[in-house]
Amino acid sequence: MLAVVQSATLLGVTGHPVTVEVQVGTGLPGFQMVGLPDTVCREARDRARAAVLSSELEWPTSKRVVVNLAPSGVRKLGAGLDVAIAVAVLVASQQFEPVGLDGLCFLGELGLDGSVRALPGVAPMAACRPDLVAVVPAASWHEAATVTGGAARCASSLREIVHALTGGRWPDPPPRPDPADDPLPPDLADVRGQPAARFGLEVAAAGGHHLLMVGPPGSGKTMLAQRLPGLLPELDPITALEATMAHSAAGVRLPSAGLVRQPPLRAPHHSSSMVSLVGGGSHTLRPGEISLAHGGVLFMDELGEFSATVLDALRQPLEDGVVRVARASLHATLPARFQLVAATNPCPCGGGPPGSCECDEAARARYLKRLSKPLLDRFDLRVGVERTSVDDLIGAGGGEPSAVVRSRVLAARALATARQGSLNAALSAAQLDALAPVEPRAHDRLRAELEAGRLSGRGLHRVRKVARTIADLHGAADVVADDHVVAALQLRVELRRSRRFDAA
Ligand SMILES: [Zn+2]
Repeated sequence: MLAVVQSATLLGVTGHPVTVEVQVGTGLPGFQMVGLPDTVCREARDRARAAVLSSELEWPTSKRVVVNLAPSGVRKLGAGLDVAIAVAVLVASQQFEPVGLDGLCFLGELGLDGSVRALPGVAPMAACRPDLVAVVPAASWHEAATVTGGAARCASSLREIVHALTGGRWPDPPPRPDPADDPLPPDLADVRGQPAARFGLEVAAAGGHHLLMVGPPGSGKTMLAQRLPGLLPELDPITALEATMAHSAAGVRLPSAGLVRQPPLRAPHHSSSMVSLVGGGSHTLRPGEISLAHGGVLFMDELGEFSATVLDALRQPLEDGVVRVARASLHATLPARFQLVAATNPCPCGGGPPGSCECDEAARARYLKRLSKPLLDRFDLRVGVERTSVDDLIGAGGGEPSAVVRSRVLAARALATARQGSLNAALSAAQLDALAPVEPRAHDRLRAELEAGRLSGRGLHRVRKVARTIADLHGAADVVADDHVVAALQLRVELRRSRRFDAA
C-alpha cells in the first residue's frame, strides 16, 4: 500500500516542502530511500525502525519498503523527515487507519526510544507549509507557533502522534517561556566618562554608520559596543521575521515572545572559522554569525586578529545585505544586514599603561595594515577610546541612561527617513550635495582639511555623512553647520599617524 505524508526540509534559512511517499509491498525484503537524501537523512531508516519498535508497533521487516522524497531535485538535509517517514511506513503497512492525515505536516527527529526531538529550523519549515497544520516536537512548539499563529500541534513521542492519528487528543502545548529569562540589553548609564566614545555610539546609532573604536585594552570598547543595540529602534516586521528565521535555523533560542524584535548583538571571537562567521558548512547550510546579527550589530573585537580571508568575506555582505553560500550542489542566500562595530588596539603592544608603548612607527604601520583598506573604508566613524580617568571612575553616578539617548536617536532617524527614505550611512555623494549642503564656513574648513592632506576624497564623503547625522541629532533639518563638521572630524581618528594613545 502507498502512503503520502507531508513534511519539509531546511536549506539555509528557508524551508522547502517535501512529500514523503512510502510504498510497502511484496518483493525482495528491504528498505530503499530515493530523492536526494543526505547521509543524516538516509539514516532515518535506522532511527525510524528503532523508534517504531520502541513504541510497540511493527516494522514491516518481511516487506519491500520504498521511500521517495519529492521533489527529487531538492536535497534533503538532516533528520527532520524522521517523523514523516515513520508515520508513512506505519500507514503504508496498514497498522492503523489515520484520521486527518491529509491536513498535517510532520517535522521532527526521532530518538531510538520513540521520542520526538527538537531540531533547528522549525520556524522556516513550518512557514513553508502555510496550508497545513504543522506537527512539531513539543520543545519547538513556541517556535512554530510564532510563524503559524498558534495553529501548530506538538508531540513528544511517536506514540502520542499515533494516538492522535487514531482519533485521540493531541497533547497540550508546553507552557510559554518566562519573559524574565530574556536577556535585557545593558544600559549606557553603566559607562563612566568616555564622552567622545559615547557620542560616537550615539551618532552610529542615529545614522546607521559602521563604527571602529581604536583604543588600548581595558578602555571599555566591548562595554560600549554591547550598549549599541539598546539605542536602536525595534526591528520592522519583515526584518524581525527574517531574523527569527535565521535564529531558528541556527538553533539559537528565540525570545519568549517568539519573534526577534530587539536588534541582536553577535560578538564572534577572532579565532572564529569562516563557516561559523559567514555560514555554510560541508553538510548543511547553516547561518553564521553575520546572519544571526541580521537587523542588529556585529561586534568584532580585536579586528586585526581575524584572519584576512574572514575579513575579506565580510565585504560582499556589507555591500549587499545578504550572504550567498554554496557547498557542492547546494546554495542558499542568507540575510546579513548588520551594523558593524569593530575594535582594535592602536599598536601591537596594545598601548600598555600610559607612556609605556615602545612600538616604532614601522611596527605600528604593519599592525594597522592588517586591517585592509577596503574594509577600513566601510567605517564612517573611527572613534578613539581612552582609558577612563581616575576621576570618572571614582566620581559619583554614571552617564546618561540608554532610554534618553535612544529618544534622540529615534528622532534623528525619523528626520533622515522622512527626508531621503534611508539612514544617512546609505547616502551617495550626489545625494549629499542635495540633502546635506554645508554652510560656507564648514565648506572652507573641509577644503582646508583636503588641501592639508588630512582628508581624502572618500574621507570627505564619510565626514559629510556623519556631519549630516550630527545635524539631525541637533534637529537641524536644512544646512549642515560648521559645528557639525567639526564634531564629525573629531569622530575620525587618523590611524597611521596617531600617537595620541601614548600620551600620559
Ligand atoms: Zn605599542
